[in-house]
Amino acid sequence: MIRYIIFFLFFFNISYAVEFLGDFKQGSFILGKTNPKSNVFIDNKKVRVSSEGYFAFGLDRDRKNNVLIKIKNKKGTKLIEKKVLKRKYKIQRIDGLPPKQVTPPPEVFDRIKRDNFLIGNARAIDSELVFFKDKFIYPIDKYVITGVYGSQRILNGKPRRPHYGIDFHAPEGTPVKSMMDGVVTLVENDMYFTGGTIIFDHGHGISTLYMHMKDINVNKGQKVKKGQIVGTLGQSGRATGPHLDIRLNWFNVKLDPATILNLN
Ligand SMILES: [Zn+2]
Repeated sequence: MIRYIIFFLFFFNISYAVEFLGDFKQGSFILGKTNPKSNVFIDNKKVRVSSEGYFAFGLDRDRKNNVLIKIKNKKGTKLIEKKVLKRKYKIQRIDGLPPKQVTPPPEVFDRIKRDNFLIGNARAIDSELVFFKDKFIYPIDKYVITGVYGSQRILNGKPRRPHYGIDFHAPEGTPVKSMMDGVVTLVENDMYFTGGTIIFDHGHGISTLYMHMKDINVNKGQKVKKGQIVGTLGQSGRATGPHLDIRLNWFNVKLDPATILNLN
């Protein structure tokens, strides 16, 4: 946060000065601030800028190219190119899973398609909320982290999609809190992979997703406060035991939730 304060002291008068909070490395959430009257483009895609000049974006797990940030306003155009640091991801092997957990049977394909469609729609929301600029909190108080972002999963010996969340292991029924103020954009009690699922919109395409919930206490469209109990931890959907798996997205880009929780 100190870097941020310095920025306010030195640069608030310069019309296309820009400052970033977050590391330019694979999987990172990046918070930016610039003159509110600027247009900001990330890799040539225009992003929303708040009335205070905040904008947000994120870097994919496997991002290799530099990021191109363009700030355009009446004083001119500023181009910034940032290198993206590469990360090494863990390899996580899980053996002895029932085969139908590793490869879904054909009869659930339609259900999975519907689930993906609903999740995709919620992640595509581009609202003017600016909650993403504040500090996120942990969703539960006592936990053991059993899964991290980016791990390559090998289930029953077969390489599968990487894991994009953080798994918090805790007893079933543990209260689960909202990590940040937001608006509930999806509530589903029984999705095939993710079980009881909630998605919160925090603005500008930044959303969080909670999965494997036992009970859910919030409804779609509801506003929630940071720290509010939104349900209880469970093992619904495709889960090997009770845990909360949280995800962080910038639209369809899956980011590392550790980067908003200062976990690494
Ligand atoms: Zn997980």
